Amino acid sequence: MALIVQKYGGSSVSDAQSIKRVAKRIAEAKRAGNDVVVVVSAMGDTTDELVDLAAQISPVPPQREMDILLTAGERISMSLLAMAITTLGVKAKSFTGQQAGVFTDAVHGKARIVDVVPFRIRETLAKGQVAIVAGFQGVSSGNDVTTLGRGGSDTTAVALAAGLGADVCEIYTDVDGVFTADPRIVPTARKIDRTTYEEMLELAASGAKVLALRSVEYARRYDVPVHVRSSFSGAKGTMVTGTHGDQIDPNASHDEQEEAVMEDPIISGVAHDRSEAKITVVGVPDVPGQAARIFEVVAGSGANIDMIVQNVSAASTGLTDISFTLPQGDARSTMAALNAVKDELKFDELQVDDQIGKLSLVGAGMKSHPGVSARLFGALRDAGVNIEMISTSEIRISVVTRADSLDEAVRAVHTAFQLDSADGEAVVYAGTGR
Ligand code: ADP
Ligand code: ASP
Ligand code: MG
Repeated sequence: MALIVQKYGGSSVSDAQSIKRVAKRIAEAKRAGNDVVVVVSAMGDTTDELVDLAAQISPVPPQREMDILLTAGERISMSLLAMAITTLGVKAKSFTGQQAGVFTDAVHGKARIVDVVPFRIRETLAKGQVAIVAGFQGVSSGNDVTTLGRGGSDTTAVALAAGLGADVCEIYTDVDGVFTADPRIVPTARKIDRTTYEEMLELAASGAKVLALRSVEYARRYDVPVHVRSSFSGAKGTMVTGTHGDQIDPNASHDEQEEAVMEDPIISGVAHDRSEAKITVVGVPDVPGQAARIFEVVAGSGANIDMIVQNVSAASTGLTDISFTLPQGDARSTMAALNAVKDELKFDELQVDDQIGKLSLVGAGMKSHPGVSARLFGALRDAGVNIEMISTSEIRISVVTRADSLDEAVRAVHTAFQLDSADGEAVVYAGTGR
């Protein structure tokens, strides 16, 4: 008997029929003798629809009200799922994030979990019942409802798994696991059987939304094994754990362990992201302190910046341009904050561009393999894709391209690194990819 936390994403519970189907899987896991806690997302594209609805009411809705609105989506699916499971003769009870003991800070829209006290969940399990928890939500110390950021149900699931000491956290979604690229863009993408928290963190941070970034951070911190798999098939998915796994025998000699690590793939995958914008500060005087001041102002606006590029200044003018990328949703407030200090910073103008795409090649093996960047840039050249920005880490290379050439770029790079699968196309079972 095991304690399992299962999370079902929106596309797995998009209508009444799907909710009944998922309920059957949950009842089977329970009847097999396990303790089962289920985290559920809002049905289908409900969260996006609620965001669109709010935008029709107010251009900048108060964030507290936004959170109350969005958490309604998960309340609908949790109660319907509890009903469906009960109909099958298995007792189930649903709980909001607050009732489940998910405590967060007070940053509406992207709250961080500070503590999980799953008292009522334990009580429910002790009675032999299935506990259903609304994903993506918690409560602040001021007793306000908060949300954890888009895709946050993954984080709820991993946090509960950690808090309950679960044996595994199963993330059920609309594809068979984590692939070497998004199967919606690259049908020949290959399923990854095992990967590490480190590589999954880079993939998630680079836009592979199959797991929310914070859920991977949480899993790594508390060493929660995560199994990403499809709710539409019985296939084994992707195990995300601390090491690549079974090929490394802790009792093997140092040389044998080294060899096992050498056999790990050089590249784990190609991620893409369409959610960023680029701001360029044009004509900045090239003197010490300017970058510090610009990024102080940007930080003050609350934006998380990603890539930064500064041009060599033109000798004749002593002026330079500084570009950086940030989430599209933060561009407006950041532009306003920078414009407010235009006279102090003495730049010429600000430009914003939301038609950019970011491609990232991720793999822990690349740090010891020369020629990875050359092959990446060569593939983009052959595909006729222009590179606008570049950034690198030990296990990732990212480039910014035009948004409309991103899909083409991802396919070209995937093929150039021989990641294409020989066994047919990946299945996308449901969802709109929104
Ligand atoms: P859910 O509704 O289950 O939370 P999401 O839409 O958040 O599902 O995440 C699953 C989607 O993530 C897939 O349908 C796929 O389009 C996308 N995706 C992006 N990158 C990857 C990847 N590397 N492997 C698998 N899926 C990916
Ligand atoms: N429903 C929320 C969203 O769409 C949370 C989630 O699905 O994980 O972002
Ligand atoms: Mg998701």
